[in-house]
Amino acid sequence: MTRPARASVTTAAAASSAAADAESVDVADADSVYPVTARTEVRRADRASYDRALIHAILDEARLVHVAFVLDGTPFVVPMLHGRIGEILYLHGLPAARLFRHLRGGPEVCVEATLLDGLVMARSSFHHSLNFRSVMLVGRARLVRDHAEKVAGLEAVVEHVAPGRWADARRPNGQELRQTHVVAIPIAEASAKVRTGGPVEDPADLDLPVWSGVIPVRLSLGEPSTEGAAGVPVPMPAYLADLVEARSGGNGPAVVGGG
Ligand SMILES: Cc1cc2nc3c(=O)[nH]c(=O)nc-3n(C[C@H](O)[C@H](O)[C@H](O)COP(=O)(O)OP(=O)(O)OC[C@H]3O[C@@H](n4cnc5c(N)ncnc54)[C@H](O)[C@@H]3O)c2cc1C
Repeated sequence: MTRPARASVTTAAAASSAAADAESVDVADADSVYPVTARTEVRRADRASYDRALIHAILDEARLVHVAFVLDGTPFVVPMLHGRIGEILYLHGLPAARLFRHLRGGPEVCVEATLLDGLVMARSSFHHSLNFRSVMLVGRARLVRDHAEKVAGLEAVVEHVAPGRWADARRPNGQELRQTHVVAIPIAEASAKVRTGGPVEDPADLDLPVWSGVIPVRLSLGEPSTEGAAGVPVPMPAYLADLVEARSGGNGPAVVGGG
């Protein structure tokens, strides 16, 4: 059963700007938020968001997702690469992988993505925390059988790793396509949870001689290397050099303010 999103949810703008205050989402604008369901209602409403743009942005910034499912009564969590086209998340893998065996028996999955933004150090151990942006979505995974959608899903995964790569790299041939399964998961029942800002302190702790503050966390790309790469040497294309340049110092703003 779904309920309308609450008015206090955080928007993408608030999550991506250190200075931005939380803004209200227009609850009447059903297109801009996902419905709150019994499975996606966040207990801490002040950290919750059902904002479509924010959820898409977190999924797009995350380098990988964790996919959870139950197979023969045993829960599994599998790290996987992903790509997004609109409201569909695509995954790929070998047909023998557990996820694809799981699809045969009630293909409910839970997908989670986390961006770690900061280590929050309070004067008391109790109030230590993390700044983060995360998404959890639940839905029924579908094995993609349509050729065009399968290729588009693979393109989304490759482009998610490095925009521009699909047009440059050799496309999968028929045999490679047969050896690869693609799964589509609708992004329809999803929530985000966001923490920003500094440490919470008990008033009685404020005079303690203990350092308090936020240490930003960033994922960055290192110096490219061709060591171990076989074949003819090829200069690095501009789209990869640009990617390395853009992400060498961090992968986006560290979210340290904004409450
Ligand atoms: C960053 C990252 C991205 C990945 N992206 C993809 C992807 O896009 N598509 C894809 O198919 N696979 C991907 N993998 C591999 C994926 O995590 C699984 O290993 C793979 O899907 C096979 O899963 P399985 O359950 O069928 O493996 P099985 O071989 O059937 O699992 C047997 C046992 O091996 C162990 N095991 C399996 N996988 C892992 C693991 N990742 N880490 C530690 N132990 C493990 C567990 O104990 C498991 O029960 C990725 C892995 C990483 C780390």
